[in-house]
Amino acid sequence: MGFRPFVFRLARLHQLHGWVKNRPGGVLLEAQGEESGISAFLTALESEAPPLADITALKSEEISPCREDGFVILASSEEGGDAQISPDCDVCPDCLRELFDPSDRRFRYPFINCTNCGPRYSIITGVPYDRPRTTMAPFTMCPDCLAEYRDPAQRRFHAQPNACPACGPRLALTDRAGRALETGDSSPLQTAVELLRRGKILAIKGVGGYHLAVHALRDDSVGELRRRKKRDEKPFALMAPSLTAIRGFARLTGSEERLLSGPERPIVLVQKREDNPVSAQVAPANGYFGVMLPSTPLHHLLLRDNFAALVMTSGNLSDEPIAFRDDQALARLSRIADFFLTHDRAIHTRADDSVIRVFQGGPLFLRRSRGYVPRGVALPASQPSVLATGAELKSTVCLTRGDRAFLSQHIGDLKNAATFACLEETVQHLERVLEIRPAIVAHDLHPDYLSTSFAAAIPGLPKVAVQHHHAHMASCMAEHGLEGEVIGVILDGAGYGGDGTVWGGEFLQGGYTEFQRMAHLLPVPLPGGDAAAREPFRMALSWLRAVHGEKVFDLPLPLLAAIPEKERRIYLRMLERRINSPLTSSCGRLFDAVGAIIGLRNRVSYEGQAAIELEALAERATGQSPYPFSIVKGEAGALQLDLRAMVASIAEKALDGTDPCVIARAFHDTLAAAVAEVCELIRAASGTERVVLSGGVFQNRLLSEGVHSSLSRRGFRVLSQRLVPPNDGGIALGQAVIAGRTWKNYL
Ligand code: ZN
Ligand code: ZN
Ligand code: FE
Repeated sequence: MGFRPFVFRLARLHQLHGWVKNRPGGVLLEAQGEESGISAFLTALESEAPPLADITALKSEEISPCREDGFVILASSEEGGDAQISPDCDVCPDCLRELFDPSDRRFRYPFINCTNCGPRYSIITGVPYDRPRTTMAPFTMCPDCLAEYRDPAQRRFHAQPNACPACGPRLALTDRAGRALETGDSSPLQTAVELLRRGKILAIKGVGGYHLAVHALRDDSVGELRRRKKRDEKPFALMAPSLTAIRGFARLTGSEERLLSGPERPIVLVQKREDNPVSAQVAPANGYFGVMLPSTPLHHLLLRDNFAALVMTSGNLSDEPIAFRDDQALARLSRIADFFLTHDRAIHTRADDSVIRVFQGGPLFLRRSRGYVPRGVALPASQPSVLATGAELKSTVCLTRGDRAFLSQHIGDLKNAATFACLEETVQHLERVLEIRPAIVAHDLHPDYLSTSFAAAIPGLPKVAVQHHHAHMASCMAEHGLEGEVIGVILDGAGYGGDGTVWGGEFLQGGYTEFQRMAHLLPVPLPGGDAAAREPFRMALSWLRAVHGEKVFDLPLPLLAAIPEKERRIYLRMLERRINSPLTSSCGRLFDAVGAIIGLRNRVSYEGQAAIELEALAERATGQSPYPFSIVKGEAGALQLDLRAMVASIAEKALDGTDPCVIARAFHDTLAAAVAEVCELIRAASGTERVVLSGGVFQNRLLSEGVHSSLSRRGFRVLSQRLVPPNDGGIALGQAVIAGRTWKNYL
């Protein structure tokens, strides 16, 4: 990533002789010269390193001088075993300056890049990383570009995707049938801008796939995009040209600004301004906008001086993976997009936009993908190579090598056939470019997950089945380099428990090799299994029945009144006899229940919607005193956190007309207090002081903060997930470490 040229320039600056080369394990160099030059060189190596360099350690030793003349970059030694691939990265400041400099030969060239910036992971087809093994292979560099590429003193020395208007990829604007548009005197880009201004929907090829774009301030176009995409309520992401532009419709904190403007260019969830000019249909019933800054030169050209914001949502049909091949994009998106702004540099690996929110000044990943993948996560110890196949809904996979773990990009919901095919492609591609041949396969304990059958079909390797919430816990431990024992507070949607119930509100105690279920939420029936996640009224009914028994329908709650008379008996019988209603301790489903009880909604249009809206309500109220709850000893020896008294209070408050914001807030505050109370009891029994927080429910910032502070106040050391998502997108990391430590038990 431009490190050798950097060393080269630095060595020349300090008049040193010697050489530098890439080697497994990092960069090796020899330098000789004046002592002052050497020491200045060593300091600058770290302090002035290029933005994408990842210096984990700098070791130096003295050797005796030898005859050398000049400083050279040596060819890399061929022995592999430590391939590192960079993530895709936004345009660097130097390239950005050239992009808007009329005297530069790359003025307004949408594919400008250098060793410090540009596409990487998405265009790499094999290793070692050089031009023939990228999707830039078909483009032959012109003499000017070649000269830059060969000149170690230049920023484009060995910049594999180097290109210019004379020799590189080109933009094209087509209609929905793929026919090139006659743009006359204006460029495809200018015409695209004009079309967007007029309210048209454009499919735009980005770095990891296609986006669907419309003018974000035009209600008519945003509404039309919703209609065509068949997406009722799920928020659309925005792209804005600058932080200043974002401040026009959202409130930004310093940490949000830093995350937004980093080279990874994630989508950051930021608080809406009340009086913002963005179409209300962009993120209905949501206190936040998901916003990103431009992540490619094309985006910069598109946005700057043209739009305050564009909707930039993934180019896919509802649950399908994002489209990234041109033919596929045209076939799938032509029903949605009016025009296509595309180009002839292929995307080899798709990568959705990453999504982050800020929690206590640091990142809380909702989705870790473009810009971060395949950056490694340091593990606490070296282990045999593992392939971990993740969960099912927010699928990612993980490969380890030595003490590094590489989490894949977001793959998506495996139940979708196209997504499942991506799982296989992603595994093969990552194994190839990272040069990892796994020795062990890890998967979820759930026998019906498609990631489990995928793992089972891999021949000849030991398989390790990992309990879902143990994997969540280990994921958080691993990213913090923890060893030994912790308390794992795993508040989650659903995971296979292995005891015939669905887990999801768990207090575990243990480490990578073993865990004990110390406590959990009181289990209630999950009526209709998976259907309950789409229809929160089912969980509300289940919880209310747990409180009021058969008399539940006497409660004059609108949610219950909406259930037709003849269905009531069916539901009651279902709950009573547990027909298709396994018991669950799920915390995610508790959020659904509470949302339905206070009248938010009986049905959701996307996963987690009730929880997101409940959090948004709660944020509008100040801290409340908790509702009553109790902690009791369960049958299997584990403690049970019984929240029936809380649910009863919530129903009471909802009936006496208490502000839903206040109820939502008190619910969050009760959970935080109850979690701390349970941890206190576990600590009293085990002495464990460290608590890791994971599970999808911790995407909720208000709850994360509440749990954090209630535990810290009692003297616990609390750790949240910072490098990978607390949801199922981070679970493969935990599976990998657990398998790396326990695989011998499975032989
Ligand atoms: Zn650059
Ligand atoms: Zn050129
Ligand atoms: Fe989970």
